[in-house]
Amino acid sequence: MSIEVVNASKFYGKQKALDTVSFSIKTGEIVGFLGPNGAGKSTMMKIITTYIKQDEGEIIINGFDTLTKEADVKKSVGYLPEHNPLYLEMYVLEYLEFLATIHKVSKNRINEVIGLVGLTPEKHKNINELSKGYRQRVGIAAALLHNPEVLILDEPTTGLDPNQLIEIRNLIKEIGKTKTVLFSTHIMQEVEAVCNRVIILNKGRVVADNTINELTKEKSLTAVFTALTR
Ligand code: ADP
Ligand code: MG
Repeated sequence: MSIEVVNASKFYGKQKALDTVSFSIKTGEIVGFLGPNGAGKSTMMKIITTYIKQDEGEIIINGFDTLTKEADVKKSVGYLPEHNPLYLEMYVLEYLEFLATIHKVSKNRINEVIGLVGLTPEKHKNINELSKGYRQRVGIAAALLHNPEVLILDEPTTGLDPNQLIEIRNLIKEIGKTKTVLFSTHIMQEVEAVCNRVIILNKGRVVADNTINELTKEKSLTAVFTALTR
């Protein structure tokens, strides 16, 4: 298993943002993470990437416990946070070189990743000058730089135009050929296009975890989602 979450709970004050969440994701799977705003998706992703800690339960990433093997988990995971925080005043190449130094990644790997995410023509630009689609590519490149086995993408396609959306979707599919990917989205066609399995959260609980084929035997994914999360 690449991702194993066992009875994870997280409180913000009195609010239970995650309530005994369990799921596991096998190596090489691409899984869509769905749920209305406030369901707990970003909280779960921050816990998987060790940016915050769960209050209860156990999370094992690539065999490493997030509480006791934080550094190993960080090495195993690439993370594109929601709203993709970037240093807008930096140049693409400069930014990736900066991260490469932090991660102790070779210069060759920078060019490899730039090629992989389709940033070659834009690599000498200031991040400020890039369209949202290209900024997402920079964020994905940053997540991939240290060649992690697991990729966590928090709403990677939110705010993209239809063409950019298709491009980033295709990129996620491409990356998914060699990595385990968990990505959150509000777009149902997207999960149907990119993955074969979804996990749906509602109010901090897992309300569905199944293949899209199984879930949509009787109704559309949108109808399933609405029925489970209203
Ligand atoms: P999602 O990503 O599915 O929209 P979040 O994980 O961001 O959901 O949020 C889950 C719940 O936890 C929401 O009710 C949100 O308001 C609350 N929450 C998230 N982060 C914090 C925080 N840092 N402090 C307090 N409450 C938070
Ligand atoms: Mg979120």
